[in-house]
Amino acid sequence: MEHPKYERTLVVIKPDGIQRSLVGEIVGRYEKIGLKLVGIKILVPEPAMVEAHYTLDPSWRQKTGEKTIKGYRDKGLEPPSTDPLQITAILLEKLKAYLSSGPVIAMVWQGAHAVEIVRKLTGGTEPRTSDVGTIRGDFVLDSYPMSDNDGRAIRNLIHASGTVEESEKEIAHWFSEDELINYRLVQEQILYDVDLDGILE
Ligand code: ADP
Ligand code: MG
Repeated sequence: MEHPKYERTLVVIKPDGIQRSLVGEIVGRYEKIGLKLVGIKILVPEPAMVEAHYTLDPSWRQKTGEKTIKGYRDKGLEPPSTDPLQITAILLEKLKAYLSSGPVIAMVWQGAHAVEIVRKLTGGTEPRTSDVGTIRGDFVLDSYPMSDNDGRAIRNLIHASGTVEESEKEIAHWFSEDELINYRLVQEQILYDVDLDGILE
């Protein structure tokens, strides 16, 4: 088995993250846990690029539509449509407008359990209910009722890959192989080496 320290995940700081001056804070959280930044760029994504990003997983339309319908019903509300695919068609248009509204920062972070660790630090999709201590829970207060009322995507600062499989497809979508740097970070010796035998002189 390949050592878990080689796992990689895609993070995108969405336009609201840059406009809120949270780039340093967000990068700092992933840095401080011990992950390694192996790729980074700033760009304004085209709507078509955003659509392709969200539909890399062929089941995303169905799953996200079902999740949204369940969210409405759990709150005793009627969803705008009972067809999951119609729900996501609407959401996709909102996401294209959101993500292409200004510059975003795309990054690839590497380290043990990178996908899971980044999702944990990032927090749940709806900032109103994201845990305190997570980036979404600490720095933004948007909610489904507000985004529904305004007919827009929920603003939650960050995209982070949901699974290892998703991360591989997403990294290839945002970065070419030569934009990702393989290098050693000195702290990896403390995080991953079997013996801590290089500390004392
Ligand atoms: P996550 O980004 O937490 O993985 P999803 O993959 O389910 O969440 O959705 C992608 C993005 O679409 C979310 O980050 C959010 O910006 C937006 N979004 C998801 N569900 C809704 C919804 N019901 N209403 C408005 N925006 C949504
Ligand atoms: Mg997702």
